[in-house]
Order: sequence, then C-alpha cells, then structure tokens
Amino acid sequence: MNQCGFVEGCQRTDQHLHCAVPFCNHTTKADRKMGVWVEWVCGKHWRMVPRQMRRILTRLRKMQARSRDQFELQRRQQRIWRRCRRAAVERAAGL
Ligand SMILES: [Zn+2]
Repeated sequence: MNQCGFVEGCQRTDQHLHCAVPFCNHTTKADRKMGVWVEWVCGKHWRMVPRQMRRILTRLRKMQARSRDQFELQRRQQRIWRRCRRAAVERAAGL
C-alpha cells in the first residue's frame, strides 16, 4: 500500500518521488498521483506509522471526497500527514 502526502502550493511533476524517510531508496512515479500529493512514504515505512494515525488520515481522505469544506479538510490532512511522516522517520531511525 503506497501513501502520499499533501503539500500546499506544490506543482504536479512527472518526476519520481522518493520515500520521505531519509536514506530510503524507494521511489514511486509522481505522475500517477493527484497533483497536490507530492510527498510519499513507501509501503515498508508506512507500516511503521502507528495504526491509529494511519486510520485518521484514511478517514480524512474519505471525508474529503464528499465534503464541501475542502480547505479545512486539507489543513487537517496536512497536519496528520506531517505526524505520520515524522513517526515513520523516527521509527526508521530507531528512536
Ligand atoms: Zn521508505
């Protein structure tokens, strides 16, 4: 399962995305993704994120599909994404 993160104001590119965890060599094709999702954590590192955090992010994404308050949901997604990414990085570093 691949995951990618939202970063405000970034442009879609056709380049490869690297896993957000330092020294991880996993990449994914950026052009498969929605334009706003420019950060990504590979499946191996995504599994290091606590399940509860992953569940919140999944729920927010589902809510966004049918919500009118896109801005607020994007803001919340971005916040939880940062926490997920940090958790993956810290677990990968053995903290
Ligand atoms: Zn990785």
